[in-house]
Amino acid sequence: MSSDIVVLGGGPGGYAVALRALTRGQTVTIVEADKVGGTCLHWGCIPSKAMLYVGEVLDTAAHADRFGLDLAVNGVSVEGIGAFREKVVANLHKGLAGLLRSKNIEVVAGHGTVADDGRTVLVGQQRVSGNALVVATGSRVRSLPGIDVDGSVVITSDEATRLPRIPRRALVVGSGAVGLEFASLWRSLGAEEVTIVEVLDRIAPLEDPDLSKQLARNYRKRGITTLAPARVESVKVEGETARVEIVEDETTRELHVDTVLVAVGRAPRTDGIGLAELGIVGERGYATVDEWCRTPADGVFAVGDLLAPPALALAHAGFAEGFLVADVIAGAAQPQSIDYAQVPRVTYTSPEVASVGLTEPQARDAGHDVVATQYSLRGNAKGIIHDSDGFVKVVAARDGEVLGVHVIGPHATDLIAEAQLITAWGALPSEVAQLVHPHPTLAEAIGEAHLAAAGTPFHTH
Ligand SMILES: Cc1cc2nc3c(=O)[nH]c(=O)nc-3n(C[C@H](O)[C@H](O)[C@H](O)COP(=O)(O)OP(=O)(O)OC[C@H]3O[C@@H](n4cnc5c(N)ncnc54)[C@H](O)[C@@H]3O)c2cc1C
Repeated sequence: MSSDIVVLGGGPGGYAVALRALTRGQTVTIVEADKVGGTCLHWGCIPSKAMLYVGEVLDTAAHADRFGLDLAVNGVSVEGIGAFREKVVANLHKGLAGLLRSKNIEVVAGHGTVADDGRTVLVGQQRVSGNALVVATGSRVRSLPGIDVDGSVVITSDEATRLPRIPRRALVVGSGAVGLEFASLWRSLGAEEVTIVEVLDRIAPLEDPDLSKQLARNYRKRGITTLAPARVESVKVEGETARVEIVEDETTRELHVDTVLVAVGRAPRTDGIGLAELGIVGERGYATVDEWCRTPADGVFAVGDLLAPPALALAHAGFAEGFLVADVIAGAAQPQSIDYAQVPRVTYTSPEVASVGLTEPQARDAGHDVVATQYSLRGNAKGIIHDSDGFVKVVAARDGEVLGVHVIGPHATDLIAEAQLITAWGALPSEVAQLVHPHPTLAEAIGEAHLAAAGTPFHTH
């Protein structure tokens, strides 16, 4: 079997290559060991967001007396939530598989390994060849030395996604997006105790420090404990619970929990599939690529979670890399490499956190004379309706362009789309201040923050 491009892995990175390549007149075959859609659709973005939506509904119901509703939640059914989650996933999977079929993109089912010609994927007895090969095998969960994942008490996001219970007392190790999302979800679903341990000095350590601070404050109010900097010293499983030793400020404390979620990042899936033999596996197992996702092996590309930072392990970064690679292979004129600072970062906790561009410390480290402005959602009509104490923070160069926008509050992950246009196009705060935002909306807070940054504050004390 032969086509212009063979793609190994049908997750967001892989299927984006295929759909884009088609628009460039190329034929594509995808080799997929499991289901198209990958981690994102089946084990990541989508199942977690479906469950987080349920958590949001429960939180709203729990505080409904605020607006005069006497609501009682008579029960939370893990099976019911699971059925909802699986329906959402199945719906999207059916749609994606149908889309690929309708475009005549062949999906070969099976585990593939790359032959040493760097053009052929071997799937059992079958040989699938292309003029170019794109490796998009994604990533897998990882743990820390000394923490043994048993899949029941000590788990990773793979088990957490389809956990047959709501934890009562949970410990979450790591405060990246995955750890924060499950901590937030479990508390919303009724967990009595949720503790997050972060080894760095604040939770959500990749975000602007003001966002981390506000998120920790919100979590405190919600009854979620955050320990940072702190580290897990030992985890001992005893039947259906675990005894965990945590060191904070040189003091050791012990927690008894029924669930330990290890959320310390993911490892690229590059081993044992012929990639090392091609010389395209670099430090910590990441694929070695240049700014156009080309590996050192001629005609071999890599996209998605296989790429080392500054690439971002996010589905939409994978889409962008897929588009780029398809354009490069098709010989499109001047394909744009990806500026990862301009890729929005999103965390769907309660409250949501989203950002694009540089944080305030990053902007200062880059040598900018920085002006940082915050607009509180307490001054925004929709923010008040949502009872949010979140904010929009604009980081700009003095007398210059907007360098970063950071949002915490309801629908922050949607609001960041406008901010992306602002930072990517290098707009001045005064230019954004001229844009008329619809009223009343949360998006007005983006406008207000830029009005303030431009020196013409409106609804600001
Ligand atoms: C809990 C969780 C929540 C997340 N939430 C978000 C979110 O809200 N937003 C966001 O942007 N990102 C989120 N992510 C990250 C996102 O899922 C990944 O960035 C994205 O899936 C990476 O896409 P990919 O194509 O590189 O790899 P994957 O999605 O991992 O796909 C790789 C595919 O390759 C296949 N494969 C692997 N090896 C072989 C082989 N040898 N032969 C054949 N097939 C193979 C796999 O079966 C898989 O289908 C989340 C991740 C997790 C774990």
